[in-house]
Amino acid sequence: MPKPISHVVRRPGPRPGDPDVEIPVAEDLVTVPGHPVREADISFYAREEPLEQWHMEKGADRDWAWTVYSDEFFDFRKAHENTVKPLVAESRKSADVEPTGEPDETVDVTETIRAKAKELGFGEVGFTRYDKRYTYKSKKGWVKFSNAICLAWEQDYDATQSTISMAAEHAHYGAYEVMGEQGLRLGDFIRTLGYHAQVHNPNDASAPTIPYFVNAGLGQLGANGQLLMPHFGSRARLMMITTDAPVRHDEPVDYGINKFCDKCQVCVQRCPARALVREKVWWRGALKNKVIYDRCRPLMVKMDGCGVCMKVCPVQKFGMKPVMEHYVETGEVLGKGTDDLEGFPVPDGRYFGSGELPQFDREFFDFPHGTREQWLFEQLKQRMDAGEEVTEEELAEFADQVKEAVGQTKKGWGSTTDD
Ligand code: SF4
Ligand code: SF4
Repeated sequence: MPKPISHVVRRPGPRPGDPDVEIPVAEDLVTVPGHPVREADISFYAREEPLEQWHMEKGADRDWAWTVYSDEFFDFRKAHENTVKPLVAESRKSADVEPTGEPDETVDVTETIRAKAKELGFGEVGFTRYDKRYTYKSKKGWVKFSNAICLAWEQDYDATQSTISMAAEHAHYGAYEVMGEQGLRLGDFIRTLGYHAQVHNPNDASAPTIPYFVNAGLGQLGANGQLLMPHFGSRARLMMITTDAPVRHDEPVDYGINKFCDKCQVCVQRCPARALVREKVWWRGALKNKVIYDRCRPLMVKMDGCGVCMKVCPVQKFGMKPVMEHYVETGEVLGKGTDDLEGFPVPDGRYFGSGELPQFDREFFDFPHGTREQWLFEQLKQRMDAGEEVTEEELAEFADQVKEAVGQTKKGWGSTTDD
């Protein structure tokens, strides 16, 4: 017998002119609109232990990654960095560019910006307050305007289904390149309406983007640590523009994902690194399945990318509406247990069907931790602990290396998108 339905979420189609979709949410999946959070904890951590950009906090493994990538992936990533650097530079200055038009009170700014964003190719668009509590430490004071426009760019469907593969990585990084450019064009458009627009390039985010997208009603956080959106699931890349345009804020929505993930667990079972966990924990004020970075990161680097947790998610593969309708009808997770949903190849040519996973020895998960300078200190300490003699020349060289590392950490530009 079908499950009782609590409510039906109605969302616009992904492209201009597409019909609305209706997503039924079963009664037993209801939790809260958006995400379960403890506001006091979010404020506490923002004040006492603000987040930092990934590439600054974990510079040691970022440098290490470049020494491990295959030649093909290395060249591809270098080309990507060269492509996005000018986009990051232009975005960083965008808050100071003055509007080119005059505000017109007869214009519905919210819907005008939404329509333009869709025309530029963004698949989902939402509006919320820019919550400064999530701002990265090194970006404090950078964000000038209080309204956030949340923009999702769909990653190529077919390439994503081929994960783990170079094709999937081309889709992943390619999405960042195109959306970074289109975000700048949307910023230009907002200025013609008479308002400022600060573009947060996706390779140089000012904050983790998912909380804003959840608050804007665009999806909910999945057990894979990604935003599950109605049309693309987690097959989307995210960026924001902050603005002083007087936009109306959207409301968070309960799509049923918080509970659905507890029942599904496909990504948890299929992660080749066993980096995803079944149990939720309270983490910096949010109830979530916390990804184990130290297991995910080495696999992502040594396999030239991963994304199995995106590929095997039924909401990504089929869309939220069919998945939720199937759950209402059967109480089951659409596609669960099939190779079609759960299977994936790895770069050495092996294929792992449902129920099969690669095995790794402990050394596979060894990699440098912390900032570049922390890693240099750690290596020196290990030598000293082992009773090894360190010469004056080596100490002088060490001092030079630390100086350079601190400089790199401070100036390092974005690339917050490796994960
Ligand atoms: S990217 Fe790969 S290794 Fe990392 S959590 Fe997802 S499936 Fe696991
Ligand atoms: S695979 Fe299942 S558990 Fe994982 S994010 Fe997708 S819906 Fe949630």
